[in-house]
Amino acid sequence: MRLMKIRTLLNEALTRTSAYLATLDWMPRLTRARIGAFGVTLVAVGLALGGLERTPPADAAMVVEALALPERPAIPEPTARPTVDEALAGIAPTPPQSLDGWDSVEVRPGQTLDGIFRGQDFSVSLLHEILALDADTKRLTRIRPGDVFDFQRYPDGSLRRMRYPVDEDAYLLVDVNAEGPVASRLRREIFSEPTEAEGRIDSSLFAAAKAAGMSDAMTMQLAEIFGWDIDFVLEIREGDRFFVIYEKIYRDGEYLRDGDILAATFVNQGQRFQALRHEDEDGVAHYFAPDGRPMKKAFLRAPLNFSYISSNFNPRRFHPILKRVKAHNGIDYRAPTGTPVYAAGGGKVIKSAYDKFNGHHVFIQHPGSIVTKYLHFTKRNVKNGQAVKQGQVIGYVGSTGMSTAPHLHYEFVVNGVHRDPRTVPLPKAEPLQGSALASFQAESTPFLNRLGRLETASLYASRE
Ligand SMILES: [Zn+2]
Repeated sequence: MRLMKIRTLLNEALTRTSAYLATLDWMPRLTRARIGAFGVTLVAVGLALGGLERTPPADAAMVVEALALPERPAIPEPTARPTVDEALAGIAPTPPQSLDGWDSVEVRPGQTLDGIFRGQDFSVSLLHEILALDADTKRLTRIRPGDVFDFQRYPDGSLRRMRYPVDEDAYLLVDVNAEGPVASRLRREIFSEPTEAEGRIDSSLFAAAKAAGMSDAMTMQLAEIFGWDIDFVLEIREGDRFFVIYEKIYRDGEYLRDGDILAATFVNQGQRFQALRHEDEDGVAHYFAPDGRPMKKAFLRAPLNFSYISSNFNPRRFHPILKRVKAHNGIDYRAPTGTPVYAAGGGKVIKSAYDKFNGHHVFIQHPGSIVTKYLHFTKRNVKNGQAVKQGQVIGYVGSTGMSTAPHLHYEFVVNGVHRDPRTVPLPKAEPLQGSALASFQAESTPFLNRLGRLETASLYASRE
């Protein structure tokens, strides 16, 4: 072990020497060669130290200390002004671009790292050494267009250091020193900051969310959280409001992406819903109402992906459709052909068939004598007798059977009686209890307060 340590120290000293040499572009070649020779001597001494295996630690440390170069060779900082001595001597060194500057190379379609190495005039055999280092470097054989490699060079143009964002929060760093390439991981600083957004719906949720600075993915997250209580296809109205506190994630001080929604309020047709994110003991996150009831219910409000519809929908036009609903025991969702349709709840497929009235249709039996029916698919995705999970795609919107335009006809039947899925009372999910409820409420209070302030401020702003 001790020998390893000595070698490491020597390596460090050598790396420092080469780093130092790399800065000395202004130094006459001969001098560099001499310092280089000193480095070679160090290696020799290092190898000789192999014989010191049995030397007491203190002695070994002393030997290494005597051999080690000064803690920090005078590497000039690129931005530092010359010291008085340097100015007097008139040899203020040029900032060493090769040490602090990275050359960035973006991977083009069809390009391999081999090709990049050739393009940069780097040794291809060195690349093979690098790829063989560990699991991280092995991944460099599968690079994607748009990935960025950073390179630093030695003064002779050969590869000194290579950097590659191997994971979202880490660089893979390959240092090439006298003994060959060494790979390591460099953690990048990741932090998240709660961010507020609010909006009022005029045309669509997506438009309002976009105006509030939210990404489409964040909008989908919002709709998923409230999708158990609110039918985002049929029930969204002009004047609906939302208030969201979500994570913005930064890397190395720069915005990277949006994270999770932490807390949100959605006011739909005057009815106010709130949800808060909470992780259980296993670190799995769920959303709960302030009273500790899970947002997730036994049935989805709208059994289809509203994002296919919402982009060009006008909430003011929905009333006529709702009137028609009562006439035929179901709800019609007008949607483009191919819109995925979900199982509203978990259950078993009791019918997956075609006939001239219903077209391609699927019936699902759920617990509690509930059956859901889905008609006019362009294509069915499940078979008779198949078990389905809630949210599973069971087919795609079409216009087969007695239908004049692409739409989903959806029925909700309880004990053989057609019910309106939006108003039928359903068993409520068990809320958090005991210590789980206490910790949830403790962590959610600041967010509820913050949402409350947002809502109040918005109320005053709209009165002005
Ligand atoms: Zn219908």
